[in-house]
Amino acid sequence: MADYIVYFGLPEFAVLLLAFAGGSAALAVLRQRQAVAVSQRRLLDALPYAACLFRRGTLSAHNAAGDEWRDNLDVRALAAESLKSGQNIVRTIPAVEGQSFQARAIRLSKIDTLVWLEDVAAAQRQQAFYRSFIQNVSHELKTPLTVIQGHAAKLGDAPDDREGWQASRRIITDEAKRLTQLVDNLLTLARLESPAFALERSNVNVAALLEDAVLQASDLADERRLALSLNLAPGLPRLNADRARLKQVVLNLLDNALKYTPPGGTVTAGARVEQGRVVITVADSGEGIPADDLPYIFDKLYRARRLKGRPVEGSGLGLTIARQIVWEHGGEINVQSELGRGTTFTVALPPG
Ligand code: ADP
Repeated sequence: MADYIVYFGLPEFAVLLLAFAGGSAALAVLRQRQAVAVSQRRLLDALPYAACLFRRGTLSAHNAAGDEWRDNLDVRALAAESLKSGQNIVRTIPAVEGQSFQARAIRLSKIDTLVWLEDVAAAQRQQAFYRSFIQNVSHELKTPLTVIQGHAAKLGDAPDDREGWQASRRIITDEAKRLTQLVDNLLTLARLESPAFALERSNVNVAALLEDAVLQASDLADERRLALSLNLAPGLPRLNADRARLKQVVLNLLDNALKYTPPGGTVTAGARVEQGRVVITVADSGEGIPADDLPYIFDKLYRARRLKGRPVEGSGLGLTIARQIVWEHGGEINVQSELGRGTTFTVALPPG
């Protein structure tokens, strides 16, 4: 066996030290690059548009929506042009399947260019939707305000007309209540739709929740002379859900059933398990919903035409709120209705 003699003097020690320092520095650079790549990716993922990041004209990162654009020649040409000219560029990219995209190349540094793509038609649709939403809300706010103004003026005009005075006071109180409810519903919806919204989940006893909701609605049912009942299948599982929000869904559905069912009718809340999902139903024997209106009843502020009967108070937001809460839980809400025979809403929630 050969003998090796290792000389380990100062020069060898210095070389070893240098190699170690070099290795650590390389590792640190590698780690930093990885950290930069991760934060770039997070930043891109947070963007609401398809986005691709180019370094010296070569794709270096993209978000999920940007995947289908990574090899697009127009996008690559735009990044290269921005790099060469040192300018930010905005350009419309020719239509892809009927859509029209606006691409923006933004210079982040001398070598980094971000290209993001906005679906122009979708943005225009959204703007149109918000314009009509604001118009509808303004209209809904204006109507009770006009009534309040009119009756407030009447109060001042004839202070001795005791009966008229009382009628105006009642109308003002009712309209103010309506306004408060509308504003409350708008705020609830804004909160539910905010990206920061999170459910407060706990282990929920669905049967107890339905019993609570039915009890809470029973006074209104008595007042309207409706038979309100509860039909619970045995062995309902508990759900990992937001109890208060889920109860709000059931109360909104019960409130509608009680509002749109003529006296003498029936309203039944129920729950059962179907294919592993908890299915909550609220069924009424009421006036039903015209088939033309059915596709829209979950839309914001939509109220179906009433074919007969007294006007019913409402904001057209109850079902939108209910659907948003159900979606937050990963569930679905559906409706079946027959004119003159009644309506059944079904909420299916995943187990968990
Ligand atoms: P609203 O405050 O008007 O009740 P919703 O969003 O709760 O608003 O409901 C939207 C519309 O759907 C109602 O205006 C009504 O036309 C219709 N609707 C909802 N539930 C029922 C029901 N159980 N029976 C008949 N129509 C209903």
